[in-house]
Amino acid sequence: QEELFKKLIAHCKEYGFIFPSSEIYDGLSAVYDYGQNGVELKNNIKRYWWDSMVKLNENIVGLDSAIFMHPEIWKASGHVGAFNDPLIDNKDSKKRYRADVLIEDHMAKIEDKIEKEVEKARKRFGETFDEAMFRQTNPRVVENLEKIEDIRKRMVQTLESGDLEGVRQLIVDLEIVCPVSGSRNWTEVRQFNLMFETKVGSVSEDANTIYLRPETAQGIFVNFLNVQKTGRMKLPFGIAQIGKAFRNEIVARQFIFRMREFEQMEMQFFLRPGEEMKWYEYWKEARLRWHKALGTNPAKYRYHNHDKLAHYANAACDIEFEFPFGFKEVEGIHSRTDFDLSNHTKFSGKKLQYFDPETNENYIPFVVETSIGVDRMFLLIMASAYTEEKVDDGERIVLRIPPALAPVKVAVFPLIKKDGLPELARTILNDIKLDFNCHYDEKDTIGKRYRRHDAIGTPYCITVDHQSLEDGMVTIRDRDTMVQERIPIDRIRAIVEEKVSY
Ligand code: ATP
Repeated sequence: QEELFKKLIAHCKEYGFIFPSSEIYDGLSAVYDYGQNGVELKNNIKRYWWDSMVKLNENIVGLDSAIFMHPEIWKASGHVGAFNDPLIDNKDSKKRYRADVLIEDHMAKIEDKIEKEVEKARKRFGETFDEAMFRQTNPRVVENLEKIEDIRKRMVQTLESGDLEGVRQLIVDLEIVCPVSGSRNWTEVRQFNLMFETKVGSVSEDANTIYLRPETAQGIFVNFLNVQKTGRMKLPFGIAQIGKAFRNEIVARQFIFRMREFEQMEMQFFLRPGEEMKWYEYWKEARLRWHKALGTNPAKYRYHNHDKLAHYANAACDIEFEFPFGFKEVEGIHSRTDFDLSNHTKFSGKKLQYFDPETNENYIPFVVETSIGVDRMFLLIMASAYTEEKVDDGERIVLRIPPALAPVKVAVFPLIKKDGLPELARTILNDIKLDFNCHYDEKDTIGKRYRRHDAIGTPYCITVDHQSLEDGMVTIRDRDTMVQERIPIDRIRAIVEEKVSY
């Protein structure tokens, strides 16, 4: 899996999906640029999300709020006080870790041990193997499960109570029973705020300090009344936003999984107090359906319900996906109560209330949010699309990107560069290029051109040959099946449309 992940990263660069930022200056850690194919895929992901929120739901509207916001907002939201990660350094290796992530890595290692034990037994007992019974009775498995349970409890307790020495002790203990870093020499744990600061105007005084937003949600909360009043919105209703967010992540790892500049797609759903659990369950299911509708392997998804809740939430879960480096969060669904609107009411002195015409009451709405990272979704799509396979004339790398998201939908090739074939190919292309993102390619053999387009996930390639000049038919080749068919030119649009629509 690790090998595959490295290949995927190299592929992303070689085929114009993702470049390291500032590469000619040796890069900038945890920042990336999207290339000619990457930007198309990214835009398609955003469009798929936006359509499913704003177009599909009459009661969800969009917003595009600024990245810079009044600094008080981040006090009200709790980010100035509480948006911290616990940080620890290893004195031997001089490596820096996020303490909670390090502890999770230990747990993952213990879980691995359990898996191995289960696999061994499955092989030994064959069909008669009862996994559930085995997990409950095998002493080594039971012991490891207890260990994980204990670690989790201690982690939650120590992090919640702010007992940083307790967190350090937990790491020291874990390195003894199950080494991850291979070293036992740790510094104390410090809290580190993840917000980037900058100055507004020309005077560098504290009063001019502002932050780059670490989430897009606050732009939605502070515009709640603007949108509700001007849109004459009735509860329940949602506001959706796509935009950049910035976090000074301590440990930037795993390519675009954890970046310092990234993009979020967030939707805040405002509702009547007391109805939050109903809507929380609703969005939890709806969001998983959205993922699965893309045709990605459903077995690779799972929910992770949070035991440890953020300061603003009364229920929260993640949708996790099995990335090449294990199951990790791709999206969060949080029941945020009236935490944000109440605090903005307190800090701004403006009443962020809703008048409910049905009950004749004024109240502060509750909120359920769905929050997904565009870049993480991008990585998810790439990781599940990347396929190496044997074909008749050797091997090919094909990106099985859901057709609706593919950067290029159709590639049009003239068989050779003369006899009027390029002209006909261009006429076909010009006819559909405003409907779909198309490529024209006349270099190399048709086989090589197919490979190039397999490697960027183009669902259809169309070849114009001499016969086409006579009968108005072309060859259309399917990326996944590699089946080639003759079709009339005037059917191209309908065939492609059918494949790439959602
Ligand atoms: P994590 O635990 O991975 O740091 P989080 O729980 O802090 O994530 P949220 O604050 O809930 O994440 O953000 C919502 C979504 O934004 C995440 O599910 C993820 O897809 C995305 N996201 C958060 N931080 C980053 C980052 N540094 N780089 C890329 N995407 C991110």
